[in-house]
Amino acid sequence: MSAIPWAVVAFLLTSAAHAQTRTLALYAEKPSGMDSFTFQSLREELRRLLAPADVDFKWKEADQRYPGEHFDLAIVGSFDGSCAFGDSSSRGNVSLAPAGSLAHTEITGGRILPFFRVDCSGLSEMLEPALQRYQGWTRHTMAGRAVARVIAHEIYHILAKSVDHHDSGIAKPCFSLHDLTRDAFAFDLRSLAEMRPVQKPGRSGSGADAVDEASGR
Ligand SMILES: [Zn+2]
Repeated sequence: MSAIPWAVVAFLLTSAAHAQTRTLALYAEKPSGMDSFTFQSLREELRRLLAPADVDFKWKEADQRYPGEHFDLAIVGSFDGSCAFGDSSSRGNVSLAPAGSLAHTEITGGRILPFFRVDCSGLSEMLEPALQRYQGWTRHTMAGRAVARVIAHEIYHILAKSVDHHDSGIAKPCFSLHDLTRDAFAFDLRSLAEMRPVQKPGRSGSGADAVDEASGR
C-alpha cells in the first residue's frame, strides 16, 4: 500500500478513537484529611492520565450529583485511613510496594466490579520520607500525583476488565517511590488500548465483544 492510503487509514483510525471519548464519573468523597491543594493535584493528574484512553473524567462528591446526569462509565471509590499527607508521625521505609497493597478493586465471581479502595495510611507511610524534603505547592503536587496514580491503576483493572499487569507504566504490579512522585509517569500504549472499547489486535467481532472476552482472563 502506498504512503497516501496509509495516511488516510491513520486519519480515520484517529478520528474513530476521538469519536469514542467516554465520560467517566468517579463517585467518591474528598479523601479524609486531604487539603484542597493536594485534592486539586489529584484530580488534575487523574484527568491527565485518563485522557489518552479517551476518557473524560469527573470527580463527583455527594453534593455534586444531579438528577438526570448521564455518564458513560461510573466508578465508586473510597479511602481508608487519613489522607492528610504531611503527618510526620508516619515514617515508613518502603522502597517498592505492590500496587494491590496500596489499593484494590472488588472482584466477585470472577468479575471485576467498578469499586476500589485506597489505603491512604499505607500510601502516606510510603510517601512521607520523600514528601518531607519538599514544602508548599511541590509537596501538594507530589502527594496528589501519587494518590492519582494509585487510583488510575485500579481504574485500569476496571476499564480493561483484566487482573493482568504490564512491565511498564501505571499498570505495573508494583510502584516505587519514584514511580509515584516523578514528573513523567503514565499508562503504556498497551494499557491504553485495553481500556478503550475498541477491537483488540488479533480479535474478531465488535468492540463490546472484545471487551467481554477480556473479562474472562
Ligand atoms: Zn493491579
